[in-house]
Amino acid sequence: MTYPPRLSDEQYAALLSDIKDWQITHGSLLKLVHTDEESTVQCQPVGTTFFPTLFPKELFDEAHALQTLFNKLYAAVAEDDEWLRDVLGDLIEVDDLASALWKIYSEMKEEGFVQDLTLGIFRSDYMMHVDSNQSAQQPELKQVELNTVSCAGGVHTNIVSDMHRHLHRTGTYNSNQLPSSDSLVINSSSLPPNSTLKTISAGLAAAHRAYGPAKSQDVTETCILFIVAADNFNIADERPIEYALWDDSIPSSRVSWGHDVLLHTSLSPTHELLYHPPSRPIATEVSVIYFRTGFEIHEYDDIGCMARLQLEKSRAIKSPSILSHLTGFKKVQQALTAPGILERWLNPDEAEKLSRTFAPMFPLDDSPSGQHAKKLALDPETASNYVLKPSLEGGGHNVYGNEMAEFLQQTPEELWKSYVLMEKISPPLLKNFMMSSRGLYEGPVISELGIFGVCLWKRVQEGESARAEMVSELKPSWSLRTKDASVDEMSVVKGYGCFDSPALVGWDIFMSVLKA
Ligand code: ADP
Ligand code: MG
Repeated sequence: MTYPPRLSDEQYAALLSDIKDWQITHGSLLKLVHTDEESTVQCQPVGTTFFPTLFPKELFDEAHALQTLFNKLYAAVAEDDEWLRDVLGDLIEVDDLASALWKIYSEMKEEGFVQDLTLGIFRSDYMMHVDSNQSAQQPELKQVELNTVSCAGGVHTNIVSDMHRHLHRTGTYNSNQLPSSDSLVINSSSLPPNSTLKTISAGLAAAHRAYGPAKSQDVTETCILFIVAADNFNIADERPIEYALWDDSIPSSRVSWGHDVLLHTSLSPTHELLYHPPSRPIATEVSVIYFRTGFEIHEYDDIGCMARLQLEKSRAIKSPSILSHLTGFKKVQQALTAPGILERWLNPDEAEKLSRTFAPMFPLDDSPSGQHAKKLALDPETASNYVLKPSLEGGGHNVYGNEMAEFLQQTPEELWKSYVLMEKISPPLLKNFMMSSRGLYEGPVISELGIFGVCLWKRVQEGESARAEMVSELKPSWSLRTKDASVDEMSVVKGYGCFDSPALVGWDIFMSVLKA
């Protein structure tokens, strides 16, 4: 059986045109900020696949089912500052970002916690993995990473998924294809609706309500504050969340990172965060701070650090708190894969379910496991099976295979401990057509499923330490990104991949398309 169907030149051109029209009319766009003029601005369609990519229904369901456990785990770790300090200790010594964040946390802690609620908006990313010795077997889920700050792509996926379902209902996918006896015909029930925009905005709304009424004197209104990058090209993935909140009668505003935070917000003597809109003389009290930036080291100059500290010291509920932000570091992910560690927060059955999705990961330090990893990374024979990752976010920072030895030789050895080594996931290759600013593509592709987990938890102090108590949790939602199989990286907005949606099928169909 084959998928996607072959298209005539005419069908191909018509589909391309339909896709562009949908993208323009639904905001599936990137803003070309350098073209921003007083009276106009240009945009560009975001990378997208022509067809939904095949995905096994069982793995899609499994990833959703696991999210409650990942929410529980990452909430628990975010309240365990003793364990985090141990795990991040080496990194804090050599990595400027980890050290800046830890310093802000310590200063905040010294003044005392004034808010015990945290909102997690996580995205757990998976690829399918096939053991190279058992290529006839069904693929399994392997986690690439779990993101805890500024998880993007939710709105873009939502729009592309709606587009795929629209193209399906118009018959574009099934009736217009060239007659071909073995082409798979997908039905509408295999295209799951996407609710990521609703899930994220509902999570923010739940946190807003949990904050309750304004607490500071002379202020009556509360609002959600988005902390965003200045000159943001990805507004189409952020603004719709703000609009959805307004539709729910929740005022929300955005402030650019750094200087603008200090200019437009202040801390009341009782730690409420007050937002002073540039256009109104009245201050509003901030209920929830939603970070859509603040994860890159260049943002932590003196002003950036002061801004984050001011936000962190406030009573507003943060998404994420600074410790929850730190749990997304690759070093933490690697530490969680070590045997027996998950049992600190989970029961053995829960721990087993999560660890099945972990690919082997190693530190690059002086421990026995680190020594072993250094050998693997420096030998080109073994290095081809690994990915070297710094503790950075946003795509484009990893070092692969035969570049690894040279890269490490050029890096002072005392800095190696800020990297982790991860076994390469070997995904099955499917096929699709894609369109992005890089051009048109037809051929083998690799998909990454992201599960959005949205949860609100409470910090419960117990003597010197604290634990997390889940307050509320939303049904998880998903994103799918797909790339040319020859590309190692994945970031749609940086041009490596495309937004996509899954066509969910049973194992029999999936395996028969894979073998074709
Ligand atoms: P970032 O924080 O930069 O997003 P990731 O860990 O997600 O870091 O890595 C970026 C991309 O590199 C992933 O989206 C994936 O495409 C690829 N990648 C990461 N880890 C692996 C792995 N173990 N095997 C194969 N590809 C990987
Ligand atoms: Mg990633």
